[in-house]
Amino acid sequence: MTTTIALSARARSIKPSATLAVSTRVKQLKAKGRDVIGFGAGEPDFDTPDAIKQSAIAALQAGQTKYQPVIGAPAARAAIATKLSSENGIACTADDICISTGAKQSLYLALQCLLDVGANQDVIVPTPAWVSYRPMVELAGGTVVEVAGEVDNDFKITPEQLEAAITDRTAVFMINSPSNPCGTMYSPDELGALGDVLARHEHVVILSDEIYEKLIYGDDAHVSLGARPELAGRTITINGMSKAYAMTGWRIGYACAPQGLAKQMAKLQSQMTSNITSFCYPSIITALTESSGDVESMRQTFALRGALIHELVSTWPDVRCPKPTGAFYVFPDISAYFGRTSGGGRAITDAVSFAEALLEEADVAVVPGDDFGACAATHVRLSFAIADDQIREGCDRIHRWLAACS
Ligand code: PLP
Repeated sequence: MTTTIALSARARSIKPSATLAVSTRVKQLKAKGRDVIGFGAGEPDFDTPDAIKQSAIAALQAGQTKYQPVIGAPAARAAIATKLSSENGIACTADDICISTGAKQSLYLALQCLLDVGANQDVIVPTPAWVSYRPMVELAGGTVVEVAGEVDNDFKITPEQLEAAITDRTAVFMINSPSNPCGTMYSPDELGALGDVLARHEHVVILSDEIYEKLIYGDDAHVSLGARPELAGRTITINGMSKAYAMTGWRIGYACAPQGLAKQMAKLQSQMTSNITSFCYPSIITALTESSGDVESMRQTFALRGALIHELVSTWPDVRCPKPTGAFYVFPDISAYFGRTSGGGRAITDAVSFAEALLEEADVAVVPGDDFGACAATHVRLSFAIADDQIREGCDRIHRWLAACS
């Protein structure tokens, strides 16, 4: 007889990603022949621009197939530092850059370097926030302190809320603008006001996840907190290739981490994954230096889709939804339907039962808000990284399904 393997508390405590679960379910239903429209995927539906692919192909054919420095190939790190200095105004050099297997790993490593188990450290997370922040913080031993943004303020928190949340226990402030799942972003003034608060609390490290910086649709420019001189020495900027360059499957992210932190992150990485796939490094340089035209054309397509989906969602009865100004998500408040019964006779009690009934009865997949934070449980997330006709058809199905709820 085989002894049962005892799972660690760590493994037992972690839930699988809600967003990936929806994508997997959609693939399963489609494989069974169901005509499902999936608003679940958090990835661009475009292919990676050809020049970026060609750089990897050339490197592969040239034999760039061996281990590289764990922290990243020097030329790629230099290209990232140049991008961050010139585009984002962050004073940094290649020494401050650590390249990892996706921004997800960069965030994970940063938190592992900043937090200790049992040290009573809080991490302030404005919510709604990406589903992976909480598990990452908790795996590192920290406690998440959620600060809820109001739907009427495009889900953004105010400087007063931030000031009230900071205590002696606050180790890290995480910010993600433009935001997944909100689809909104802070204006330079709003971010500046949060920066003013952070400037007064020198013990707080800032972890700024800027993965959607290129996907912005309103009048506001993206700004980086790490560009402010008084914050630069304690701001870790996270970014990557996934969203801007349609490279989700390549798994390339990076951190700009001051005070030698990049090397500490690489030290952990050296015992976990080592360097990213070696022949991908030249593609980072191609993406950062030669692909602005591709990025702009994808951005324009997303901008049109964002306007389309917002127009359609706005016609749904009893649903509130801010206009998307960044990333590729809308995050409508569907709580008016809690307590109602779907046309197929299912009780809608929360966002999970709403999403389940919608999938079963209308063949439309959305992500329930629950895992994006306590204040997000009255919402569902729809990604508009799908074609216009799918957006129209999916929104139409939802409209009809909502109308049948009583
Ligand atoms: N940060 C946010 C806010 C995200 O939405 C995602 C992906 O969905 C990531 C980080 C991770 O991106 P990747 O690991 O693909 O670079």
